[in-house]
Amino acid sequence: AAEPVPAVTGSALRVPLVTGGSATYANLDHAASAPCLERVRDAVEEFLPWYASVHRGAGFASQVSTRIYERTRNVLRRFVDARSGDTVIFTRNTTDALNLLARSLPRNTAVVQFDTEHHAALLPWRGPHVTQIETPRTRADAVAAVDAALARCPVGPRLLVVTGASNVTGELFPVAELAAVAREHGARIAVDAAQLAPHRGVSVRELDVDYVALSGHKLYAPFGAGALIGRADWLRAAPPYLAGGGASRLVTTDGTRAGAVWNTGPERHEAGSPNTVGVYALGVACAELQHHRDEVLRHEAALLDRLRTGLAAVPGVAELRLFDEDGTDPQAVGTVSFVVAGLDSGWLAAVLSAEYGIGVRDGAFCAHVATRRLIGRTGTEVSQALRVSIGLGTTPEHVDRLVLALRQVVARGARWDYARQDGRWTP
Ligand code: PMP
Repeated sequence: AAEPVPAVTGSALRVPLVTGGSATYANLDHAASAPCLERVRDAVEEFLPWYASVHRGAGFASQVSTRIYERTRNVLRRFVDARSGDTVIFTRNTTDALNLLARSLPRNTAVVQFDTEHHAALLPWRGPHVTQIETPRTRADAVAAVDAALARCPVGPRLLVVTGASNVTGELFPVAELAAVAREHGARIAVDAAQLAPHRGVSVRELDVDYVALSGHKLYAPFGAGALIGRADWLRAAPPYLAGGGASRLVTTDGTRAGAVWNTGPERHEAGSPNTVGVYALGVACAELQHHRDEVLRHEAALLDRLRTGLAAVPGVAELRLFDEDGTDPQAVGTVSFVVAGLDSGWLAAVLSAEYGIGVRDGAFCAHVATRRLIGRTGTEVSQALRVSIGLGTTPEHVDRLVLALRQVVARGARWDYARQDGRWTP
């Protein structure tokens, strides 16, 4: 039987956080970066006296670090349910992971994607065969559009790049269906799981996808570590992402130019001293989230429902949706963007912060094409959106406070005296 949803404070959760769940500050910006899990903080603290450079030292600390670093690859493998031959390359974040993949494609790979992707997934692809499909308004049309675009690709390697969950609307893309279509065309599929992984997890085998990119700081670990996980062959054959120590097996020079024999494992793309502590933190966070997956799902589903119901009752609020002709996505992760008719979103975000202690995000969320288009559909004059994103640090009180704040602000209208300075609104 389902357990009741954990109650009012973050500490009631069995997945406690270092911050978040605070009675005074309502952090409703988990989609940008999530607060750190206590378990991660403790693990890092325990590791700090022992970290050292990996793969380089004979000393005990170096051995411990190397072991932890290499074992974390298996933690990540388990987290994404990878195939046995899949490689795990540690990166700085999702942006880094997707750029690495973009640089590792065989020559003349045709890339197909939707145009509403996060900039990290939209911008790295170059070359004559990149197709950006205007994201259709239903998932069925999205699958059909990809089918048609892949059919038009020239003969040769093909890659479909898609986000698992939108960082603007929280809606899920039909990844399994898209992967099936990709297979029919002999294409590979890469999933930007920056938003999907923290909330739903991601199974490479279940979805039948080839690559997954993710970021530690969205998975309740600190900044600085992410990963690209997936098929090894293209990555093994690609030039090293960075040239330097660790990536090279043997280096020589003829007096004018140094040459290298490059490693073929993941270290090929991990030149330089890696972020051992960050990688460990990422691994601990992934293991912890996987362990508490059901609890995370229940917690977020209840809060998202509360948020949606509350927002729907605030006059003038128009929620943004990519697949608006499919109706509300029952699976969506806890991210909702909206505009409020007649109110500037930057001003509103500043008021929510200063007057109510609520942290949200305003703007276009590194997804300019998506946000502009979806705001256009609302028919309001507003140019930027407001994004509310929930997670393990969110409590029902935070959601209620936001809804109440919006009701009050809308009732008063834009009457607080805030000035715009350096592009921000301040009281
Ligand atoms: N993709 C999506 C869907 C995201 O939400 C983000 C972060 N906002 C990224 C990619 C990039 O992640 P990072 O900044 O950690 O590289």
